Amino acid sequence: METSTTTLLLKDGRDKPVHNRHPWIFSGAIDRLKGDAQPGDLVTVADHRGTPLATAYYNPKSQIQARILSWDPAEPVDHDFWLRRLRRAVEARAMLGLVASGQLSVSSEEHGTEGRLATDYRPLTTACRLVNAEADGLPGLVVDRYGDHLVMQCLTLGIDRRKGMLANRLVELLQPAGILERSDADVRGKEGLKQVVEMRHGQAPPPEMTIHENGHAFLVDVWHGHKTGFYLDQRDNRAAAAQPTLLAGKEVLNVFAYTGAFGVYAAAAGARRIVQVDSSHPALEAAERNMALNGFDQPDDELIAGDAFEVLRYFREEGQQFDAIVLDPPKFAYSQGQVERACRGYKDLNWLALRLLRPGGLLVTFSCSGLVNADLFQKVVFGAAVDAGRDVQVLRHLGQSADHPVLLSFPESAYLKGLLCRVW
Ligand code: SAH
Repeated sequence: METSTTTLLLKDGRDKPVHNRHPWIFSGAIDRLKGDAQPGDLVTVADHRGTPLATAYYNPKSQIQARILSWDPAEPVDHDFWLRRLRRAVEARAMLGLVASGQLSVSSEEHGTEGRLATDYRPLTTACRLVNAEADGLPGLVVDRYGDHLVMQCLTLGIDRRKGMLANRLVELLQPAGILERSDADVRGKEGLKQVVEMRHGQAPPPEMTIHENGHAFLVDVWHGHKTGFYLDQRDNRAAAAQPTLLAGKEVLNVFAYTGAFGVYAAAAGARRIVQVDSSHPALEAAERNMALNGFDQPDDELIAGDAFEVLRYFREEGQQFDAIVLDPPKFAYSQGQVERACRGYKDLNWLALRLLRPGGLLVTFSCSGLVNADLFQKVVFGAAVDAGRDVQVLRHLGQSADHPVLLSFPESAYLKGLLCRVW
């Protein structure tokens, strides 16, 4: 069991976020440290009078100097603590039907049969997020499930120091075939950490795994793919957008396609033609293979490698039109100072897409920049609609999938937002 021997005293009037259960303590809120906590150690967070409020782990190298693990300063941070937190996270995914509590082994029921028909939808999903960091009470820790394997990402020093122990708890809880650590996210730099990709337990996952999502099969490279291999956060939105009633017989443009997940769903929903755009050649090759894996033909000349802005402009010049367009760009804003520029980018992009839609067409548009909130994003799309001279009806507000929960006391955990729109 770990104990805190240091008290982190907050400045007078700076304890409100802690009372409101926000897990981050910024350097500016700290008065002083009583004790000799080393980077990564536990500290007791106290108000300016010395009343203990919470237990956190500490990293003086980061602007976020402490991240709260428990709002009960008397709660022991021991073996059971970590197990309880992990179990609570996994249980939420079990409630969503994304994992059988207590085991990961992919059952034949989960896999279903191969060679299914395009219209045969199955709620079969073998990849999901199991631990979503702060939003699951485990700041800095991400754990994703890909079939029998787990991929963990340690984003903070406090978690990095405990990763061996955490991997052991995950093994106790889930008996995975293997645990790969994919700690190659840029944010580690802010914590003074280098990038690490290595096995933490068991068998190494193959260079290419097949996972299933809502009955569709996808090839995933958990060693090198974006994030931990796949954009799991878009699962619910793919399902929402790719309804046969919305897409059957339609011409679909999938922009920022990555490995073509929206494209596969669109094909399964009966889309007549799917054009996929991404700046990455390898991603588009994977998109083609993912289409084939699900029994769909993806003509080569409808995979377009290039800059999305340029390709959309070119389509306009060519007079191309579509019935549905998906826009899922990478993060545009990494800091408050970039928000204005990011919004200009979103506006341009949506304006370019709106001009390619046939009357009554669908725009499925996203932003994964946490700093651009849902209201602001909607305003930006509105601005694009005005400039394009189009009427836009929002049919659905979209967000990150349910296995990426948003903690109410931590609004920063809501980062992905989207609009499913009909355009006239
Ligand atoms: N929709 C995808 C995820 C998209 S991630 C899915 O559901 O899996 C964003 C993608 O945008 C990445 O694949 C990246 O290669 C691509 N990208 C980044 N900048 C781009 C640009 N300027 N033009 C086209 N693609 C770009």
